[in-house]
Amino acid sequence: MHITLIAGARPNFIKIAPLVHAIQKAQAEGKDIQYRLVHTGQHYDKNMSDTFFEELNIPMPDANLGCGGGTQAEQTAAIMIAFEKELTAHPTDLVLVVGDVTSTMACSIVAKKLNTRVTHVEAGIRSWDLTMPEEINRMVTDCLADFYFTTSEVANENLRHAGVSEDRIHFVGNVMIDTLRANEHRFVKPDAFDELKLQEKRYIVMTLHRPANVDEADKLRNLVNQITGNVENEPIVFPIHPRTARIFHDLGIHADNLHIVDPLGYLEFNYLVKHARAVVTDSGGITEETTVMGVPCITLRDNTERPETCTIGTNELIGTNPNNIAPALRILYAGQWKKGAIPPLWDGHTAERIVDILLQK
Ligand code: UDP
Repeated sequence: MHITLIAGARPNFIKIAPLVHAIQKAQAEGKDIQYRLVHTGQHYDKNMSDTFFEELNIPMPDANLGCGGGTQAEQTAAIMIAFEKELTAHPTDLVLVVGDVTSTMACSIVAKKLNTRVTHVEAGIRSWDLTMPEEINRMVTDCLADFYFTTSEVANENLRHAGVSEDRIHFVGNVMIDTLRANEHRFVKPDAFDELKLQEKRYIVMTLHRPANVDEADKLRNLVNQITGNVENEPIVFPIHPRTARIFHDLGIHADNLHIVDPLGYLEFNYLVKHARAVVTDSGGITEETTVMGVPCITLRDNTERPETCTIGTNELIGTNPNNIAPALRILYAGQWKKGAIPPLWDGHTAERIVDILLQK
C-alpha cells in the first residue's frame, strides 16, 4: 500500500504529524505501507509552516508545490495544476487529505480525476455556513472521498444523511488530539510568559483569523475593544495570524493589557493555552484542544462544525456581536464556566486506528 499524504496549512501539519508517525510505526513492525508527503505550500512563513515540521518531528516533505498566496480561486487552481503534475509523476494507491483547507479540496479533486482513491480524515463535520471557505472545502471533499475517518457521531450522521454507505465511514477519533496527547509533556514556556510577567490562570489567550471577524476594520476594532475592556485588567496574549496582522496595525487599538505577538510554535502556543484562564477565539481546532485541556473557551462565531466542543467540552459559541462579549466574560470571572468532559475516542490513538484500517483496504 502506497499513500500520498497532503498537508498545506498550519492546522494540516498538526493533523498529519501523528499519521506520519503511525505509518512509520507500522513500517517498523514490517507492515507493507509506504508514503510520500506533499506540502502544497499554502502556508509558507516559517512560523506558519517550518516550525511545525521541526517541533512535531515531521519529516521534510518529499515535494513542495510552492502554491502560497492568491485568492481562493487562484490558490485552488495553482494547487490543482501543480498536484496533477506531482501525482502523474508519482502515482499512488491512495491520496489522504486532512481537515478543510483549500489544499484538502484541490488535491481531492485532482486525485479523483486521475482515478485515485481519496481518504478524508476529519470528514463529515459541517457548520452549514457556506460563507466559510472551509465549509465549501469540506462539502466538496466529502462528495469525492472513498473512505471517511470521523471525529464524532454527529459527523457520522451528516455523512449518512449525504448518502455515504456505512462501510465507508470509520469513527476513529481526533488526530489533532493525538498530537496534543503526544506532546503535552514537552510544551515549552514561550519567552513572552516571563517577559509579560504572566501568572497561571490570570491571563487570556486570544486568536482571531476568520474573514467574518477580521476582514472589516470596524467589526474587528469593536470586538477587540470589548474584550480588552472586560477582562478585569488581565493581560491578553494575542498571537496574530498573518491575515489579521494585515489589517490590525491600521486600527489604532491601544490597550495596556493587549500584547500582540507573532504566531507561536505549537509547543509554545499550547503551553500558553494550558495555563490560561480562558481562550477567546474563532478557530476550530483550538476549541478541540481547549476541550481536552479543560480550559474555558469563548468562541466568536455563530456556528461550529465541532458541536461536541460545546455539548461535551468547555466551548461556548457567543456569536460575532461584540455586545455578547461582556456577559460571557462575567460568567467566566464569576467562576461559573462549565467544566466539560472529553469526547469519545479523543484518546491519542486515532492515527494508529486509521493506519490499521487503511492496511485492510
Ligand atoms: N496554533 C499554533 N500557534 C498559534 C496559534 C495556533 O500552534 O499561534 C495551533 C493550535 O494549537 C491548533 C492550530 O494551530 O492546533 C489551529 O489552527 P488555526 O486556528 O489556524 O486553524 P483552524 O483550526 O481554525 O482551522
